[in-house]
Amino acid sequence: MMDFLPIFYDLKGQRCLIVGGGDIALRKADLLVRAGAILRVVSLDLCEALEELIKKNNGEFHQAAYSSEYLSDVTLVIAATDNGAVNIQASEDAKQRGLPINVVDNPGLSSFIIPAVIDRSPVVIAVSSGGQSPVLARLLRGKIESVIPASYGRLGNLVGRFREQVKARFGTINQRRGFWEATLQGPVAEMVFAGKEDKAEELLTEALAAADSDQREVGEVYLVGGGPGDPDLLTFKALRLMQQADVVVYDRLVSAGVLDLCRRDADRVYVGKARQNHALPQEEINQLLVKLAKEGKRVLRLKGGDPFIFGRGGEEIDQLMTQDVPFQVVPGITSASGCAAYAGIPLTHRDFAQSVRFVTGHLKDDSCDLPWQELVHAHQTLVIYMGLISLPLICDGLIENGMSPDMPIALVEKGTLPEQRVVTGTLATISKLAKEAEVKPPALIIVGEVVTLRDKFDWYGARHS
Ligand code: SAH
Repeated sequence: MMDFLPIFYDLKGQRCLIVGGGDIALRKADLLVRAGAILRVVSLDLCEALEELIKKNNGEFHQAAYSSEYLSDVTLVIAATDNGAVNIQASEDAKQRGLPINVVDNPGLSSFIIPAVIDRSPVVIAVSSGGQSPVLARLLRGKIESVIPASYGRLGNLVGRFREQVKARFGTINQRRGFWEATLQGPVAEMVFAGKEDKAEELLTEALAAADSDQREVGEVYLVGGGPGDPDLLTFKALRLMQQADVVVYDRLVSAGVLDLCRRDADRVYVGKARQNHALPQEEINQLLVKLAKEGKRVLRLKGGDPFIFGRGGEEIDQLMTQDVPFQVVPGITSASGCAAYAGIPLTHRDFAQSVRFVTGHLKDDSCDLPWQELVHAHQTLVIYMGLISLPLICDGLIENGMSPDMPIALVEKGTLPEQRVVTGTLATISKLAKEAEVKPPALIIVGEVVTLRDKFDWYGARHS
């Protein structure tokens, strides 16, 4: 049995009594004001913030001891004093008059309780532990807050404006439900979340117009950065799109933990690239994305790290643009950030490096065509992606171009995953050390004095050893 029936009460213009003038009274008053209520506060003393709130609200303040006379003309009562006798009296008086009463932190004296609120007006979510544990309710609220985008309210307003039109357009509840489900989970919602309400409205109008012509709409591609491996490093937006996509097109670098978080019943297409061994050539991946989207699917193009950092994201969206396929790009934590953080190597540091440079070590035709002169620079950290195979060539090139053979260097293998390994040495020694340790891809190379900081800052290794 539910201990309480959750309802949403229209308090606009209604007078509500708060007994008490401290911080707790303030919080309740704030909530009432947000719901459009007019305050009446009775208390011997009043905190400053509450005084201001009452003024702004055009409410009343009575500096007095509570008595039942203050109950006249009110819709609802909240007792928030630290005086047990007063709270009991207020509760009895209110109940006698049939007025809803909440005594803060005392469900026994209350006829209603106030939930933890997630306000995405007009969407409002209320969480209650039935008065058993307000802290539990608040923790739960935090979880829900984190998965409901702030722009849900705007989405609510937009579809609210279309409600009557949709009703008129579709004869049955089932048809309407189908239309709204598609709208609230598809490109219209995505446009609102991306801040493009005009476009969303346009799409919604079009969708409504096209609704019974049985035309299949074009889907959308989400180009999403899945981060370096640890699923906890995903963005909320990435997770949301992962959970609504119809098909997932993913790379070798996407970790199993991240892939697991995609919608269960989504189709999965592996297009991974191992060196020299492309499962699908880039051109075909581009074509595949277009084809799937044109079938009306929501396509998640999931990549390791960040799609715009050595991720060929630019090439993929270029093709989508040419073919008029809607898309959006979600950044991910690039492996440089992830590996550096989890290896305890700050990429910049006031004492050691004022700049950081991301380069690819994937040398064309295995020749050394890196801009060596630019890489050898005092107080600069180098992060080299895809450099493991060419490690000896890279070290030699740097030394030949004037970098000290003693320059510290780190290899981070499977960064941010539980299996992460870090091998450190110098330009002169690292190739041998890497061989001995059998470092395997994916691995990231970090060169610079900041590498020495790891001795002190290796927080992740310290937890996992
Ligand atoms: N877009 C990706 C990079 C793709 S290039 C990003 O932003 O991270 C592939 C290279 O990234 C690998 O050769 C390796 O150098 C690096 N890399 C990706 N994930 C890694 C990980 N978990 N640990 C170490 N290096 C990683």
